[in-house]
Amino acid sequence: MSYWVIVFGPEYEKHVFGSGRKKLCIVTCLHGDEKEGLTALKILERLEGIDGKVKVIVANLLAVKHDKRFLESDLNRVFPGSRFGNYEERLAREIVREVRRCPLVVDLHSTSTFSPPFAISTKEGQKHLELASLTGVKRLVLMGDEIAKGKALIDHCRTGISIELGKKGSYAARENCRKIISNLLVNLGMIEGEGKASDPRIYRTMFFLRAPEGGFECSLHNFSYVKKGQIIGKGKGTLLKAREPFYSILVGEEHSDLLLIGVKEVGKDA
Ligand SMILES: [Zn+2]
Repeated sequence: MSYWVIVFGPEYEKHVFGSGRKKLCIVTCLHGDEKEGLTALKILERLEGIDGKVKVIVANLLAVKHDKRFLESDLNRVFPGSRFGNYEERLAREIVREVRRCPLVVDLHSTSTFSPPFAISTKEGQKHLELASLTGVKRLVLMGDEIAKGKALIDHCRTGISIELGKKGSYAARENCRKIISNLLVNLGMIEGEGKASDPRIYRTMFFLRAPEGGFECSLHNFSYVKKGQIIGKGKGTLLKAREPFYSILVGEEHSDLLLIGVKEVGKDA
């Protein structure tokens, strides 16, 4: 007796706009519940005569449909993926093939709480700084591999940065996306217009603060400057104070057990 096993490939969308020598890849929805990056697709659909090739990947399509961050594993923690792995591991393998040869990759995300837009790079160097600057964002966080352990998408790109656009579901985040993509296309000479490149402030991660047990109320916001001795928040019988000055980022991310990440500002040639 013989039988067929039909294996459906993991679902993602690829859209290609324009033609020419210049190349850019925009990745959105690595997390299915962060849909603000889809604004990039809307912008590109309306443009004509793009000088260069722009590939947009809508990564975790099934998670988007279910409005979930992921189905089996956080996709942005399993790159470069595996052929026989779970759903996201197989998907990661497909996505990495799409982006690997692209010289510039911008990966779009959004946060659980209000935040100004900022870029994240897990690698240091002029190319990553330049790419962040072309998007016009005013902040770049150098994150190393403390969170994704070398398994984020941008760890597997030639030059790739992630951008946190702002709060999930907010008008501000969609508007930030529109500005960032338009800056990027203008600054790369792919479309005509006025693009504002920036000279981003550079931050580096200092520590990762886990939420104490039994509920905790954090009094900080994203990019709050916290002085030494300042109260970070209150929990059951605990009052947490800053041991040294820092800026707080990714405060109260719903999917994470981290309360916040502490970063410090560093020099331009960091
Ligand atoms: Zn995300």
